[in-house]
Amino acid sequence: MSSAFDFEPQPRRASVAVDVGGVIVGGGAPVVVQSMTNTDTADIDATVAQVAALHKAGSELVRITVDRDESAAAVPKIRERLLRLGMDVPLVGDFHYIGHKLLADHPACAEALAKYRINPGNVGFKDKKDKQFAEIIEMAMRYDKPVRIGVNWGSLDQELLTRLMDENKANGSPLTAQQVTRETIVQSALLSAELAEELGLPRNRIILSAKVSGVQDLIAVYAMLAARSDHALHLGLTEAGMGTKGIVASSASLGILMQQGIGDTIRISLTPEPGGDRTREVQVAQELLQVMGFRQFIPVVAACPGCGRTTSTVFQELAQKIQEDIRASMPVWREKYPGVEALKVAVMGCIVNGPGESKHADIGISLPGTGEMPAAPVFIDGQKAMTLRGPKIAEEFQLLVADYIEK
Ligand code: SF4
Repeated sequence: MSSAFDFEPQPRRASVAVDVGGVIVGGGAPVVVQSMTNTDTADIDATVAQVAALHKAGSELVRITVDRDESAAAVPKIRERLLRLGMDVPLVGDFHYIGHKLLADHPACAEALAKYRINPGNVGFKDKKDKQFAEIIEMAMRYDKPVRIGVNWGSLDQELLTRLMDENKANGSPLTAQQVTRETIVQSALLSAELAEELGLPRNRIILSAKVSGVQDLIAVYAMLAARSDHALHLGLTEAGMGTKGIVASSASLGILMQQGIGDTIRISLTPEPGGDRTREVQVAQELLQVMGFRQFIPVVAACPGCGRTTSTVFQELAQKIQEDIRASMPVWREKYPGVEALKVAVMGCIVNGPGESKHADIGISLPGTGEMPAAPVFIDGQKAMTLRGPKIAEEFQLLVADYIEK
């Protein structure tokens, strides 16, 4: 019979720590939040602005596309501009096909990047593959940079897939096509890591990822990788999709893996809506880590869902406003008030659960529901501190929250 303890988070899987420009990934360090720009890296202004926005939102590493000479030439300038803005955020270069050439031709780019991401499925043209892979690893050693070997099933090594399919067939097909594909993804990552090590790249310079777009496939593939290596793992669901679907799929798969102790850094890939805010993926990653109790980034605002007892919009507006105020103030608060992220604020819609939930928060308010007396008790540190009345309840509570945090 299972006990409640079986459902506790498992201890973090032991992995080799990798220093990415001063941010430690793996080795038991807190799970790192990262994201990626969608600007043309050759457009320095746009890329600096987006990296700065992502970093300000909480992205501890930011990946940028390095796809041609113009973008490689822009990388050191982007890094320089960010440093002038006071942002020492490690930049990760995303390379496909010609990474070996871009790194060789642009030494300032190779130096400015904190990590190189390469894809074993397209690191070079088939017949020259190992040579080009070796050239990138050699550059990583020369500049003392870590490498993420990032397998993606959209660009899976077809040679390896065909070989494993043939082997499976010769053995009487004990594995399904899906299982062979999963095995190919895992082997592609592990064989590439092995090759990189044979070429001289130390283990503490290698991170692995194996991204797929199906939730069950992702869980299976990372569980296999985790069991067969001690490399630091970068988790992410690829092509997760738009809006709520992308958020749900990423949260479900990454949540299950992290509960098993698997994962050292996460990226939530969301397809942005046209004109949508790119920083949303950072916010989702932070919220996922925070709701699971792995990290704390921002005070929690507990709000009830509302129901027929909350027919006015005051309650929803206040909960939203408090959340937005806190998010906007966090960059300053984090510096000024260490530990502020551990606070809990409650905004509740009526007397049913309002006082109880508010007492569990550091500061909470129970708004008057429909038909209740127009009075809103405020609880501070578990005690009823005052009752707000009148049309300015929302504004007064906002001030009380700010006051509480400052005190
Ligand atoms: Fe409805 Fe009150 Fe419960 Fe909120 S606390 S969901 S308003 S009953």
